[in-house]
Amino acid sequence: MTERSPAPPAGRAFQDLPLSPAVLENLQRLGYEQMTPIQAASLPLALAGKDLIAQAKTGSGKTAAFALPLLANLNPRHFAVQSLVLCPTRELAEQVTQEIRRLARAEENIKIITLCGGATMRPQLASLAHGAHVVVGTPGRILDHLARASLALDALNTLVLDEADRMLDMGFADDIATVIGHCPKQRQTLLFSATYPDDVMKLASRYLREPQEVKLAERH
Ligand code: ADP
Ligand code: MG
Repeated sequence: MTERSPAPPAGRAFQDLPLSPAVLENLQRLGYEQMTPIQAASLPLALAGKDLIAQAKTGSGKTAAFALPLLANLNPRHFAVQSLVLCPTRELAEQVTQEIRRLARAEENIKIITLCGGATMRPQLASLAHGAHVVVGTPGRILDHLARASLALDALNTLVLDEADRMLDMGFADDIATVIGHCPKQRQTLLFSATYPDDVMKLASRYLREPQEVKLAERH
């Protein structure tokens, strides 16, 4: 007798999304059997190219909710930075990098690098010189690289502001503004936050284009 796992609740199957068979297979391999609620709410909109303000508590699977869309926007044959993910801390940036790497396994040769303060410049400069498709980092260090022209964002198509509330709490508002000034106007912007205070709203209204709001209640 074979055990069958129950079918995912309505609207929670990754198979219903416009994702390639390779991506779906990789999700299965990772043990992602169904979308989490924030993924189910965000992914159809984000994969349709919409800007998004998404709010859900920690541990709800927000990384895949922006990682799958940014990977879908990527052209692996174009070896230039096409996605930038801004995170508040080095630890979070490293976690996000790991999750994007896992999700990117469906494609060959997607290069993802982490650029955070507190780490020495030389290896970062060496990685940038080799090129990358995706950059994940903290606002201050990303700004340093933009200032010394070791990083260019002309080919960017997806900008993610992860843990936007924490970045603002940590005083990154000006750095974020300057980094966004280096991004093409024509892009998809995805803002994720655990909470949704006024300053996050202000950030969203300044830098997102007709954003769709996805909010999940505390309990889900
Ligand atoms: P958040 O950013 O909301 O705090 P994460 O993106 O870090 O949450 O995800 C929390 C954990 O859940 C991670 O270990 C991730 O690999 C896992 N995860 C995310 N989505 C799914 C899914 N659909 N099925 C199973 N596990 C998932
Ligand atoms: Mg997160």
